[in-house]
Formats: sequence, C-alpha cells, structure tokens
Amino acid sequence: MSAMGKDRDDQEPRIDLDRQKKARSYARKRRIVFFLDTAMVYVYAGALLASGLSLGLRETVARLSGNQIVIVALYAAVFYLGYVALTYPIAVLGGYVLPRQHSLSTQTFGEWSVDWAKGLAISAFIGLLAVETAYYLMGAIPGLWWLVMGILALLFTVVLTNLAPIALVPLFFKMAVLSDESLVRRLVRLASNAKVKVRGVYRMNLSSKTTAANAALMGLGNTRRIVLGDTMLDRYTDEEIETVFAHELGHHVHADIPRSILVQSALMLAGLYVASLVLDSLALRSGFESVADIATLPLLALALGVVGLLAMPIGNAFSRWQERRADLYALEATGNPRAFRNAMVRIANQNLAELDPGALIEFLLYDHPSIRKRIMLAEEFERGR
Ligand SMILES: [Zn+2]
Repeated sequence: MSAMGKDRDDQEPRIDLDRQKKARSYARKRRIVFFLDTAMVYVYAGALLASGLSLGLRETVARLSGNQIVIVALYAAVFYLGYVALTYPIAVLGGYVLPRQHSLSTQTFGEWSVDWAKGLAISAFIGLLAVETAYYLMGAIPGLWWLVMGILALLFTVVLTNLAPIALVPLFFKMAVLSDESLVRRLVRLASNAKVKVRGVYRMNLSSKTTAANAALMGLGNTRRIVLGDTMLDRYTDEEIETVFAHELGHHVHADIPRSILVQSALMLAGLYVASLVLDSLALRSGFESVADIATLPLLALALGVVGLLAMPIGNAFSRWQERRADLYALEATGNPRAFRNAMVRIANQNLAELDPGALIEFLLYDHPSIRKRIMLAEEFERGR
C-alpha cells in the first residue's frame, strides 16, 4: 500500500495547545475516577467487616452447604457481585462516559457493555480460582500459604501472558499479520539488525473501540509478537511507525516482559506475606473461626489493597525505567530522533495525553515517562550526535 489513500498528515506535527487543555481536564477527571474506584474497595471491605455482615454471610452460605469449596464459592460470588454493583457507576463513568465525552471512544453503550461483561466474566473466573486456592492453602498449610500462593500466581501469570495474544486479546480485538509490504520490509530489517527473531508483526483493529493510538510487545515464548494499532498505522508516516516498532523491539531485546513478570510477582509475594501477617494478628480477635474462614475475605482484600497501593509507585518507577531504556533503544536503532519526536507529538495530540502531569503525579501513577520527557530525550539524543 502506498502512502496515498492513507489518512496521513505528512506535515511536521506540533503539540496542539487546544488538545492539551482538553488533555489536562481529561486527566484530572480520570484521576478522580481512579481515586473513587480505589477508595471504594476500602469502603466496601471495611463496611462488611465492621457491620458483621461478613460473618453473617458466611453463616448463611454455610447453612446451604457443608462443603468447604461450595461455601467459599458462594461467599466469593456474593462478595464480588456486591462490589460490582457498588462500583458499576464508576465503571460506566471511567470506561464509557469520559472517553465518549472526549471523543476518544468509538463504542456505543451497548458495545461497551458487552466488553465490560466479558472483562467481568474473565476476572470473576480468575478471582474465584485465586480465592478457592488461597483459602484451601490457608487451611492446609497455615504458616506457608502466602509463599505457595505467590509461586502459583507467578506460574499462572506466565501461562496467562503466553495465552493472552491468542486467547484473551482476540475476545476484544481482531489481530491480523501486517501486510503493508514496504513497511514490513523496514521493520524486518530493523529486527534483523538487532539480531532478534520477531515471531510476527500484527495489525490490531483498535479503531473499532477507540481513536487513540497504541502499540505493544505481547506474549511469551511461541506467542511473542509486536502489535501495532490501526489507529497508528493509518495515520503515522513509515518513519514514525518504525520508531514505535523499534521501541517495542527494545522491550524484546531487553527481555522486559519476563523481567516485569518477576518484579510484579515479587511485589505480589510481599503483599501476600503482609496480608498473612494481618490475617494472623486480626482474624482470631475479630470473631472468625480461623484464618481460613472465608469471612476473612474482606480483610484479605483490604490488606492486599493497601499493600498494592503502596507498591504501585515502585512498580511504576520500574516500568518507567524500562520504558526509557526502550526509548533510548529506539533512538539508537533508527538513528531518527526527529521521527521519534514526531510520533510522540502525534500520540499526545491523538490520545489526549498530558504532556507534563507534574512530578508527583508522574511518580505515583505513570508507568511511562511523561510525553514531555520522552520528547526531551529525543532532542537530547539529536543534540548529542
Ligand atoms: Zn514501551
């Protein structure tokens, strides 16, 4: 395919100041949604514990069945449904209303709802598996359940990362092997220069849901691939796409996915250990039968939630470090800082990404460096050559 017929703007892009104003207001609203969503976990779990409803619920489901697996499943189902109902307005606001208001979403409410339901079904299945396993282990090996649980979570994450591009992502997006020949030739050359085998470059139909551009390295082992959104492929120049591809290639060269899995698993293990200490010290004082009493689930959720929130800046700092290194890789591999900068400018305009969210927000919430920092890196690279 030639550049003709593509909806491309070959002019050197500039930061759209009007879009930046919208980006700031969008970011502010999204942070409020994030805060509400996070707070709701604590409010919900805290209320179940303080009101005695948690114990009451366990007593009720225990009357329905004597089987421990059934009791855990029934309790977890009611716990989860209550949480989903409580947070549904926040999910609609953050997932549908705000992106629609800012012309980022291309979905109808019906389409969004189908995706939401699919996501819910997946997390309910994984959640149930996790809760059943955790409470079984708490009963079987009370002192070490957190360690075994952490190891199982690591193995599960490895399997899930491997399956994601072939089993999970296709539930939401179509992926097809990239067929733009001249572009593919460019990308293959870049990959062979790096002496790495990329198992495939795919085009994903992001435009079915969003106007925003994105790209990713996905999968593990035999499913590993670089995925580029059609929202980028149809609107960016080949040189710009090449720099984005090179960034993803950088993640591959540096083995960032396996490293991320290890770091996330270490943080998870720390969280589970702290949760086990909290359960040990509070469970028996608070009227539960034992730590393995499913009525302690809100306490477990609270402990994991607090540790998760505290660990978030650590995980984000680690991620930003990897992202910066992938940016540097892209600059070196393509030798084209101008195209890299232009791609960043387009992303900021198109995705309503805030150029500069401020140091504190970036430290706490950003898993990528701010666009301003990424542009500055490209300019430094250009000057330093
Ligand atoms: Zn990246």
